[in-house]
Amino acid sequence: MINAGSSSLKYQFFQMPSNTEKPLCTGLIEKIGFEGSFIKHKVITGDEEKIFEYPEFIADHADGLNKIITLLSGSGTGVVPSADAIDAVGHRVVHGGSYFSGPALLTTEVKDKIRELSALAPLHNPVSLECIELSEKAFPNAHQVAVFDTAFHQTMPEHAFLYAISPVLYEQEKIRTYGFHGTSHYHVSKKTIEYLGKPNARIISVHLGNGCSITAIKDGRSVDTSMGFGPLSGLVMGTRSGDIDPSVIFHLLGTGKYTSDDINNILNRESGLKGFAGSNDMRDVRKMKEAGNVRASLILDIYAYRIKKYIGAYIAALNGVDAIIFTAGVGENDAGIRESICADMDYLKIYLDKEKNNTAMAGLRDISVTGTDVKILVVPTNEELEIAQQTFQLCLNL
Ligand code: ADP
Repeated sequence: MINAGSSSLKYQFFQMPSNTEKPLCTGLIEKIGFEGSFIKHKVITGDEEKIFEYPEFIADHADGLNKIITLLSGSGTGVVPSADAIDAVGHRVVHGGSYFSGPALLTTEVKDKIRELSALAPLHNPVSLECIELSEKAFPNAHQVAVFDTAFHQTMPEHAFLYAISPVLYEQEKIRTYGFHGTSHYHVSKKTIEYLGKPNARIISVHLGNGCSITAIKDGRSVDTSMGFGPLSGLVMGTRSGDIDPSVIFHLLGTGKYTSDDINNILNRESGLKGFAGSNDMRDVRKMKEAGNVRASLILDIYAYRIKKYIGAYIAALNGVDAIIFTAGVGENDAGIRESICADMDYLKIYLDKEKNNTAMAGLRDISVTGTDVKILVVPTNEELEIAQQTFQLCLNL
């Protein structure tokens, strides 16, 4: 599978179906087109990992993809005899608009839709499309499949995805909630349903990575989510503010001191943990708090309180809750955040077991007090595996 960012390319190679759910190799190219670009390639054999690092200039995504092909089939670094041996490539595509509620084989029509949706995701969809077209040439025997970040949320009802603005803006400008991180919310909710043995479970999935979002899930379907038209709304994130009254934007514009680009930059890249405490890395913010930094302490309170409020809202939307899932970098690793969020929720019968919460373990783990109705779970996300599995399933049926 390939995950193309504006200056990065991530890839994982799987032999499907996979009992271990482990890739045979993974890799990452960063700073494409910039000084300091590098490739990191990892070959995984059982429990053994061999890491290859190449600090070299990667001019563009085409250059990057060529290097990946060389590594995938090279001696020592390779996992296939040649690029021709690859049967399918799954591409992460950020925006599928209202068109896609699942993975899609990349036909000319599908690519046209992705291109059309570039207006809604200008930083992401054009790069994905470029990589899809490069990949079609690079892997001529492979089926190419798009897996959309928005797809899982296409089941939201109208009253959840429409804004209270003129419907003309929805019809003509496509203004609505789309939601993102869908592949992750789907993956962890699927694992949770398997764990609970309850297909109709009411689930709240809290994805806390660099970007953060929370989703309400019923019968395995997303019914509401905190990111909206773009990825800015909802929870406090690494560098994004999350929910903010739009009046702030007009006020700042009115001062004449900020352009709309400045405000866009402030809200997307200079807010959240970074804007408030100086680092977008939760580990740094936690260390700062421990050292007595007041801002770090306050942003952690704001971060947790926002999530707590959304959990309350989604319990109301779902008319109850069977499981709350914590996932992604912060959700899986930061016991303190989970404890703050779940504190004083006894009215909602949410009881976190502090000892279980503080015991790190691989895989899905239940950190709720034994015997309580609402399960609090830590479920590792794996968007790459999910993309590979969805790609495999779709190609099986061709
Ligand atoms: P993304 O995929 O959105 O880039 P990740 O899911 O990798 O993000 O999460 C990145 C975040 O996870 C960072 O803010 C980082 O600080 C946080 N994180 C990673 N490991 C830990 C940890 N052990 N404790 C607390 N936070 C962590």
